Amino acid sequence: MPLDQASLFRQLGYIDGAWVPADSGAVTEIDDPATGKIIGTVPDMGAAETKRAIEAAYKALPAWSAKLAKERYDVLKRWAALMMENIEPLARIMVLEQGKPLAEAKGEITIGAAYIDWYAEEARRSYGDIVPTHKSGTRILVSRQPVGVCAAITPWNFPSSMIARKVGPALAVGCTMVLKPAPQTPYSALALAALAEEAGVPKGVFSVVVGDAAKIGPELTGNPLVRKLTFTGSTPVGKMLMAQCAATMKKLSLELGGNAPFIVFDDADVDAAVQGAMASKYRNAGQTCICANRVFVQAGIYDSFAKKYAEAAAGLKVGNGLEAGITSGPLIDDKAIAKVEGLVEDAKSKGAKVILGGKRHSLGGRFYEPTVLTDIKPGMRLLDEEIFGPVAPLMKFEAEEDAVRLANDTPFGLAAYVYTKDLGRAFRMSEALEYGMVAVNEGILATPEAPFGGIKESGVGREGGHQGLDEYLETKYTLMGGI
Ligand code: ADP
Repeated sequence: MPLDQASLFRQLGYIDGAWVPADSGAVTEIDDPATGKIIGTVPDMGAAETKRAIEAAYKALPAWSAKLAKERYDVLKRWAALMMENIEPLARIMVLEQGKPLAEAKGEITIGAAYIDWYAEEARRSYGDIVPTHKSGTRILVSRQPVGVCAAITPWNFPSSMIARKVGPALAVGCTMVLKPAPQTPYSALALAALAEEAGVPKGVFSVVVGDAAKIGPELTGNPLVRKLTFTGSTPVGKMLMAQCAATMKKLSLELGGNAPFIVFDDADVDAAVQGAMASKYRNAGQTCICANRVFVQAGIYDSFAKKYAEAAAGLKVGNGLEAGITSGPLIDDKAIAKVEGLVEDAKSKGAKVILGGKRHSLGGRFYEPTVLTDIKPGMRLLDEEIFGPVAPLMKFEAEEDAVRLANDTPFGLAAYVYTKDLGRAFRMSEALEYGMVAVNEGILATPEAPFGGIKESGVGREGGHQGLDEYLETKYTLMGGI
């Protein structure tokens, strides 16, 4: 039976299987980015509550990791099924705190459940090896063991699925986890915890601590009981957390910023490329780390692509994500919209031409118009920074090697997109692009089956695929002698 929205909307933290306030009793207000109205409060927790959650996770570890893989599978399968049964209230809670259109929120719940479901299954196959030995009378055994207590810090742009793809593999292999969700979007995380409880995840195995990052973060990175940190967020914060984890040598997965190139060649199917660029750029109002950040279009089709793209983007319906037919919601907060505005003003002042949008939306608040800019040139800030808004800068290129050079001219290396019908070029591009992920003739690529992650300053580690399971496993070598 699906729960109602009210019973999934939790305004307390979840530590060691109990719903609790902050020790101090203090709370923080959370607002709806579409209206600016307060939707509720959450406890303002700090180091002491975090420490208790870590200790509970440590205490819960032996029993959870000793369970049969099939027993953990049963619990996680139930959790994923509960997410799908409750997709409507979960999606509505997400729209309220995050702003994305309801259909996108449902898509996110679906993929989050799919990550948990897939890892429940995958963990039953975390095989080891028996290796031909170097010495008679011995055997070499290589086995996989859970890393132990994990800490997770997640962002606001995917407030549910970013958690699912960390907690899914972690719990499936027998780790326990303490999560700190983004301050803007605590309710999706707490709703997941409510369903975990309902599914039978034992107390202490998954806790959610909400509050000030500056107080919670150092406990997560400094406490020696935590053996792994998994983080999705900005590159500067990722670097800082990596440095903090060095003291206790924690295992790390970092999914950081991107600066995705979206490259369209003369030989591409232009309509398909426009469609792909729409999905890649404007999903979540441009607030994803794999959003097309720079659109490079070959000279022969530049004008026709620009015209068709601007026409398609003009069809987006901006508004409150809970209203029917809305395809583009607000930006997350005032800082976000000020940043997007600043990047567009900078480009305009350096000669960019606005062929669509280019300013705040008449709805006011945190709404920005879907925007397409042409005449983009080096030196404009939006080529170097993650835009994180509904703004597509178009830049013309002549030759294939120019596209490669421009695309790789960034410290980031998360996702890249290429549209071409030439098979040889598709291979050459996929090999030459310094990115962890390359989508050829597709605009969306995240899925539980595939390893999502970046190279260079976009991070370390992978989420998804069997590689995503390795992130929560240690390799143990046992030499058996006396045989
Ligand atoms: P964004 O700018 O997209 O919000 P951040 O990297 O700042 O990206 O935030 C991603 C996550 O990292 C959030 O949960 C945020 O609270 C957390 N975070 C930010 N600063 C710190 C910090 N100093 N220590 C630990 N976590 C942090």
